[in-house]
Amino acid sequence: MSWWFKIDLWKRVIVALILGLACGLGLRYGMGAEAGGAFAQNWISWAGDLFLRLIRMLIVPLIFFTLVSGIIAMGDPKRLGSLGVRTIATYFFTTAIAVTLGLIMATIFQPGASLSPETFAGADTSRMQSVAESAAQAGGFVDRLLAIVPTNPVQALATGNILQIIFFAIMFGVGILMAGKIAEPVAKWFDGASEAMMKVTIIVMETAPIGVFALMATVMATQGLGVLQSLGTLAIALYLACFIHIIVTYGGLIIKGALRLPFIPFMRGITDAQAVAYSTASSSATLPVTITCAEENLGIDKAVAGSVLPLGATINMDGTAIYIGMVALFGAQAMGIEVSLTQYVLVAVMATLVSIGAAGIPSAGLFLSGLALAQVGIPEEQAFLIIGFILPFDRLLDMMRTLTNVTGDSAVATAVAKWEGELDEDVFRAQDNLSAHVDDRETASPA
Ligand code: ASP
Repeated sequence: MSWWFKIDLWKRVIVALILGLACGLGLRYGMGAEAGGAFAQNWISWAGDLFLRLIRMLIVPLIFFTLVSGIIAMGDPKRLGSLGVRTIATYFFTTAIAVTLGLIMATIFQPGASLSPETFAGADTSRMQSVAESAAQAGGFVDRLLAIVPTNPVQALATGNILQIIFFAIMFGVGILMAGKIAEPVAKWFDGASEAMMKVTIIVMETAPIGVFALMATVMATQGLGVLQSLGTLAIALYLACFIHIIVTYGGLIIKGALRLPFIPFMRGITDAQAVAYSTASSSATLPVTITCAEENLGIDKAVAGSVLPLGATINMDGTAIYIGMVALFGAQAMGIEVSLTQYVLVAVMATLVSIGAAGIPSAGLFLSGLALAQVGIPEEQAFLIIGFILPFDRLLDMMRTLTNVTGDSAVATAVAKWEGELDEDVFRAQDNLSAHVDDRETASPA
């Protein structure tokens, strides 16, 4: 079995993802949709659920310990200001490009043009109650800001409220710094605890190939590629926009352009996180993997990784922003509505806000897209029907936007780390050398 562990994890995860995809499609189209889906549900899905539970188990302790010990390692609370401003400004910058790209692609590809209002008539709207609920949650700007401050930090930890945990962890870290000598044992304790959580994450990640395989096989066996029949153009436009955003905005503008770093080691360093994001369709569940990749592979300091990434998983969703704009135009095209320039701008603003407000869980973006559909003049009833029509096929689209969301968080974390002087470039660049060594070893060893 030791040969298995010698292979780089990211390679094992990629192979598992492809095998899972092939196995799921084989089951669905070999045994038939019903039988194949049932087989995957009964025999394979438990392994995916187990993996999901394991990584969810890590989220709260990992963020809390990493962030507190990161703030302590930073040494000076004053530096938090520039870190925060840079993070939020860069998140906004990438999201603005994402929304624009989504609108351009939807205008070029016209994903809704071949549909008509009647197409949506039979859509299942039984789950649409939650649209209104989630929309209500998204509202009230002041309330949402106030809600970041926990009235009970233990409850915030117990319920896994990420923004509240970030807030308390930063305050607590600053408190430890201010207390000085007397709090040194506490500082040491947090350092040890964060190292230990990192090790637990690495153990859990060893199960990722099995988990990713099972998740992919189950999704493909139960859902298949139906999305390509009814929403083919939307799927192509979304995948293409996400690819362009990853390569041009993150690769060209940020990693290579602004930071003068090579792009391949960046992508290689976060492959595990991307594969987990793609197979779980949840950036929150992927968070522990994203943090580990950022620290271990990209050389991002733990104060930066521990603060920028959890914040990103909650507020920075470029893939979702691309999608929301697209769904609004998709709806308008299907309904035969002419979209004015003002409406384009309103959709862009709404897509940005929704991407900030959406939770990092499956289909959150789609549920909230009713808010953007309203901007092009589609009434709530119709919006429900459109969302209900897309929902059964949303998974394959969600997987790609989640991958984009996680890639964006990592790119911004790399940028902020570099600007703050907290990026270990030797570790970052070692991603290239690492695989060169492995390749050498593979070619050197006799077959
Ligand atoms: N599933 C996405 C995420 O977790 C959110 C969305 O639905 O767009 O990042």
